Amino acid sequence: MKTLLLNPGPVTLTDRVRQSLLQPDLCHRESEFYDLQDEARARLLDVYRLDPKAWSAVLMTASGTGAVESMIASLVPLEGKLLVVQNGVYGERIASIAKQYGIAHEVVTHDWMQAPDLARIEASLDANGPFSHVAIVHHETTTGRLNDLRDIGALSRSRGARLLVDAVSSFGAEAIDFDGANIAAVAATANKCLHGVPGASFVVARRSAIDEAASRTYYLDLARLAKLQSQRGTPFTPSVHAYYALVEALREFEEDGGLEARHARYAALAEQVRGSLAARGIDSIIPAEQSSVVLRSYALPRGIDYQTLHDGLKARGFVIYAGQGDLSKQLFRVSTMGDMNAQDVERLADAFDFLTR
Ligand SMILES: *Cc1c(COP(=O)(O)O)cnc(C)c1O
Repeated sequence: MKTLLLNPGPVTLTDRVRQSLLQPDLCHRESEFYDLQDEARARLLDVYRLDPKAWSAVLMTASGTGAVESMIASLVPLEGKLLVVQNGVYGERIASIAKQYGIAHEVVTHDWMQAPDLARIEASLDANGPFSHVAIVHHETTTGRLNDLRDIGALSRSRGARLLVDAVSSFGAEAIDFDGANIAAVAATANKCLHGVPGASFVVARRSAIDEAASRTYYLDLARLAKLQSQRGTPFTPSVHAYYALVEALREFEEDGGLEARHARYAALAEQVRGSLAARGIDSIIPAEQSSVVLRSYALPRGIDYQTLHDGLKARGFVIYAGQGDLSKQLFRVSTMGDMNAQDVERLADAFDFLTR
């Protein structure tokens, strides 16, 4: 039985992406590798139709956190200051990264069920500024909430700050208005909405932001990575096979209709999951209009703990995902990323019936 992954990455691969891993062994100092790297970088900008004169996609061998760390540690200038908007685990992680690097920062914390509170963010911008950057998680995978970037981007612009966005679980699936939201950079990974394999991550940054980058970190130094990659180079040994898969996944993404098509596909699957669980008395926790199309949180059925639900579904071929921290007692999560379709969701819905048999 094939197991379908409903966790927020790594995803169930398409056969095409899996087969791409079997291409020839490649030395990362040969032109064939740089062709691959160039294609990945160009296609990443194409996902959001970004102008390569203004934007650069910088690859690194790391998980998504590596890309977020590279972005935060590099793009807040030495004299800069960061405001972190936190309404989940991943916002908390950004604050931890800023602390670890000794970056001047403030945090506006929220309950993990809450949307960012613009009035409190505005108050902190005014009381503790000036800030060079505001960091926000686009899709807070902790709960499935899609944080609105436009309002916070506009507010930041009015105070002279640009956004640094953790788009690890939204890049490729949710609209991002790079100019309208006053974005300096977004960080993301190959193995979520793009359907590649783990090991390759990236930052899409304004060239002007890279020009002002600080060099606080060695391996994740974004300006060095950007410079060498633009010269068809690389500082270290990249995860070559993950790059094969990323490029194949990006080709497939484009052939399938790009961002709009992926968004529509995820939206249909997510709504199908929501409807079929609602029919079984299992409610989503965040209203659909405030949720991403990528992942949704659901209340654990009364009297059923996560492990029981997980194990029952896994025995039927589905891997769901626990809530983080204390949320593990309240909710479970279902992602609709990866190679899955409407029939899979029907089978998933049927699998839930083990609870009532
Ligand atoms: C998955 C995820 C990350 C990074 O996780 P890794 O395990 O390092 O790949 C960061 N931010 C968000 C919002 C995520 O969903």
